Amino acid sequence: MTDTEVRPDRADRAVEHFDVLIVGAGISGIGSAHHLREQCPDKNFVILESKPSFGGTWETHRYPGTRSDSDLYTYGYRFKPWTGAPIASRDEIVKYLAEVIENEGLGEYIRYRHTITSAQWSSEDKYWTLTAVRSDTGEQLKFTATFLWMCQGYYRHSEGHTPTWEGMDHFAGRIVHPQTWPDDLDYVGKRVVVIGSGATAATLIPAMAADCAHITMLQRSPTFFFIRSNSNEVADMLRELEIPEEWIHEIVRQKILLDFGQITQLALDYPELAREELLKPIREILGEDFDVDRHFNPRYRPWQQRIAVIPDGDLFAGIKNGKASVVTDEIDSFTENGILLKSGATLEADIIITATGFDMNVLGDIDFSIDGVPLDFANTITYRGMMFTGVPNLLEIFGYFRASWTLRVDLIGDFLCRLLKHMQELGVSVVVPVLRDEDVGMELRPWVDPEDFNPGYLTRSLQLLPRQGDRQPWRHAQNYWVEKEDLPTADLDDGTLRYD
Ligand SMILES: Cc1cc2nc3c(=O)[nH]c(=O)nc-3n(C[C@H](O)[C@H](O)[C@H](O)COP(=O)(O)OP(=O)(O)OC[C@H]3O[C@@H](n4cnc5c(N)ncnc54)[C@H](O)[C@@H]3O)c2cc1C
Repeated sequence: MTDTEVRPDRADRAVEHFDVLIVGAGISGIGSAHHLREQCPDKNFVILESKPSFGGTWETHRYPGTRSDSDLYTYGYRFKPWTGAPIASRDEIVKYLAEVIENEGLGEYIRYRHTITSAQWSSEDKYWTLTAVRSDTGEQLKFTATFLWMCQGYYRHSEGHTPTWEGMDHFAGRIVHPQTWPDDLDYVGKRVVVIGSGATAATLIPAMAADCAHITMLQRSPTFFFIRSNSNEVADMLRELEIPEEWIHEIVRQKILLDFGQITQLALDYPELAREELLKPIREILGEDFDVDRHFNPRYRPWQQRIAVIPDGDLFAGIKNGKASVVTDEIDSFTENGILLKSGATLEADIIITATGFDMNVLGDIDFSIDGVPLDFANTITYRGMMFTGVPNLLEIFGYFRASWTLRVDLIGDFLCRLLKHMQELGVSVVVPVLRDEDVGMELRPWVDPEDFNPGYLTRSLQLLPRQGDRQPWRHAQNYWVEKEDLPTADLDDGTLRYD
């Protein structure tokens, strides 16, 4: 089928066909569209997005103070300089993405309010047929696409993860999840308890502290944080020298990557040293009388979970000046006026915020099938953490945990465009990862090794996710520093990709 061809569907309405269909207009989908346009300009494509606007994570999350937890020099794309402070607010990130869409004319390729519900591969036709439901009209539409570029992110956007605690129904105040923040929430002068210790809690608390009567971070166990000033000396110095922003972006990216690579390696090789380095500035801010070990010294090794940057230590400044506090305990139950803790203590609250994380979604909660047989991704093995055995013409972007997600968007964008060009040279239209004889029976491991990285949302869902093997290209390396060397030179004819 050619680029522009349309076919009648059963209801005789035209079904549009695309060479590539990108699912999701978050930072991955927008970056992927850029790479496709730049490197494969002859491919026609569309982006289908269920929300009314672009941004994904940055469209969904609107709680006070929503910001990045890694620096925007590396979280920004390699092709669009970041010119602000390293840690950016939601609005700044949305503005950055809007500029990419505007400058590159990507707006015309995005169809909003289209939720894809099913994707069916036909080996006979050699394309996917997708059903999308329009959230504004309820209409069901069909599309066909030769290649599916899945940029659906890793968690369900419709609602966050809220555990059930006894007595929740009796609480007289409001219970709010940060992912679905109500516009009308008035917290001025109120007593607020934030359940959770991750990046979201650490962001919300300094943003709300000045307005609340008091805000308490209630955590079962501590999390590592990385205190850094929200400025970058190298960037500031280069700007003073009036160096072009493109150069500054690249130099600062390389410097941050070098520094982070070293810090990550230190955490892996000398976890106790890394632990002390992370705790030192917290001890300095909170002073000798504060029990840093109880509240901020995690049981796990540094980097077994993502480490959020706390710009200028704002969370700890709030605790120091008494507007915020931290309680490390377990919830027994909710009461009418707050929370009863397992220690027997109580926390009075007008508002309880459950910063308890996400529920993962496996490839956009879409019902996939291949030649009529339902596809369960848990039964597949991943090809380099982006494609799956037995699943033709489909690639997903799953970014890095220990480095900025977007670094992988750029690397995979290059990889897929190289693969599409290779297929064109071979005169084929289908690619599917298959185990070689020597790979059959290899040891299979979870999508991410829980020993290596184990946040709650991931461990709760590992059984739903594809597995990885014990060798390349069946590993999901989750390592930018390895993949930046491996992916550009990956052999596309090593027998693990079958073409047709
Ligand atoms: C508050 C917050 C801060 C974060 N900060 C950082 C950070 O600083 N650095 C970092 O590396 N990571 C950070 N992350 C992780 C973040 O999710 C990723 O960095 C990144 O935003 C993921 O982008 P994405 O485009 O892949 O997915 P998402 O942002 O999740 O976007 C996916 C899009 O796909 C759409 N979609 C999904 N399923 C379907 C479907 N079936 N049909 C149609 N559309 C669909 C969704 O509506 C959504 O718009 C943060 C996460 C949160 C929640």
